[in-house]
Amino acid sequence: MVLHKHSKQCLRAYSTISLISPSFYSFIIRASIEKGALQKALLDYKAILFSGTIQPDHRTLSSVLDACKILLNIRFATSIHARVIKTGFQLYPSVLAPLVEALEWGADPLFGNLIVDGYMKSGEFDNANKVFKQMSNRDVVSWNLMIAGGVRNARPKEALSIFQQMLGLNFKPNGFTFSSVLSGCARTGALREGKRVHQLMIEHGIELNSILSSALVDMYSKCGRIQTAKQVFDNVQRKDVSVWNAMITGLAIHGLALDVMELFSRMEGEGVTPDSITFLGILTACSHCGLVEEGCRHFDLMRSHYSIEPQLEHYGAMVDQLSRAGLLEEAYTIIKAMPMEPDMVTWRALLSACRTHGNAKLGEVAVEQMASLYSGDCVLLSNIYSASKRWDNAERVRDVMKKMGIRKNRGLSWVEMGGFVHQFKAGDRSHPESNTIREVLGRLSQRIKMEGFVPMMDLVLMDVSEEEKEGNLNLHSEKLATAYWILKTSPGTEIRVSKNLRTCHDCHGWMKMVSRVLNRVIVVRDRIRFHRFENGSCSCGDYW
Ligand code: ZN
Ligand code: ZN
Repeated sequence: MVLHKHSKQCLRAYSTISLISPSFYSFIIRASIEKGALQKALLDYKAILFSGTIQPDHRTLSSVLDACKILLNIRFATSIHARVIKTGFQLYPSVLAPLVEALEWGADPLFGNLIVDGYMKSGEFDNANKVFKQMSNRDVVSWNLMIAGGVRNARPKEALSIFQQMLGLNFKPNGFTFSSVLSGCARTGALREGKRVHQLMIEHGIELNSILSSALVDMYSKCGRIQTAKQVFDNVQRKDVSVWNAMITGLAIHGLALDVMELFSRMEGEGVTPDSITFLGILTACSHCGLVEEGCRHFDLMRSHYSIEPQLEHYGAMVDQLSRAGLLEEAYTIIKAMPMEPDMVTWRALLSACRTHGNAKLGEVAVEQMASLYSGDCVLLSNIYSASKRWDNAERVRDVMKKMGIRKNRGLSWVEMGGFVHQFKAGDRSHPESNTIREVLGRLSQRIKMEGFVPMMDLVLMDVSEEEKEGNLNLHSEKLATAYWILKTSPGTEIRVSKNLRTCHDCHGWMKMVSRVLNRVIVVRDRIRFHRFENGSCSCGDYW
């Protein structure tokens, strides 16, 4: 690379003063800009980067962006943007503002799209949205980036409303748009919207490829319409493995393990080679229906016949199913045989089962193993301390976690009602009718307590759940969503809730009781499967 003469000089000058602070560079660049030497400012910036001794700070970046703006140098601005994303400076308004302004002078949506894409890839939906709103020249790619990014970044509700805006402004969605929107409907359980999207696809004459066919099967099964999913599946002429996988996974979340087995034989019969996702669906189905033997057989088949090396998730599913069935020693044998380090989920499954089946000895072994493996993991340490009844330590670890800002996943639930998707976050008050919802919830909980419901107070079982422990278990998102449904609908209507995490023991017991007391069917789809609560019991047979 040939260095510009000027840059060489700068480099020489800078290298002699390499220990000075980043603000000094920002001062030099700012001085050049004020003198009107804009090109020089850009070259100075390049020279700083080239020297590699110091990282430009947010002031430097925003000054250079100012220079780009005056010079209308979009390419340079884009390269700065890449750095901004990498270094996380976008949080500074002084950097974000000129970036957003830069969108105004680029006629080509490419620049804006690059920024939106960058933010989405680094998980910053809100910043992407800010930039997107400023873009005066959106194209279908811009909309697709926002919708797909929203779904990927756990903002499906927003993704769906962006899709509505897109239609309202007469942009023509394409296959990519539809596959993202369907996936958003699947996450939130928005059946009505999903059906409408399917209809739109037909109206737009969108040809079904395997991505769209899988997305439709996935949407219908996750929205509780397994029969429609099957119809869509049967109508696909040439099914590739992803379509089969969507159907197998769909049957698995409905707890239809026998149908999964049948479909798998059909798949083999038609000469389609299964992949690791196929087997994950099968193992999950076996696990949630207690088909241990079938699960083990397929786990072997996967390796012996299809030469697919089991991944962490497959081992996890095996440990899970053996643990649930009370085969704790066997589960532990699998853990020991794993070629990779078991993750949190795997250990949680064993720890939880050790508690349920009262195997203190293996529980202690597991605890020791976990402590040595995960000494850095505060969440798990807290579980371990709780498990071994060292309550003082457990409290202390929780304090540390709080201070360090380590949190478990935030529980989110969605209900589709009146053409809208409503979102509920565990413990929050952001819903406009939050107060009334809490009142309903309070009365409901009182009532089921009188009927004999005992809230789960077991610290360990609470802690081994995926969801962060809210101060009040009563505020888990699926309970809020259920209360909202009760508030808004007439008695007898079926209640439908979709949730992003696995439902906890307390909520599960609560739902059973509410279904009996109110004589209503409650359908909750959690991360793993459907639960249909009716007259005090659940379709999963408490096996999830
Ligand atoms: Zn819960
Ligand atoms: Zn259940």
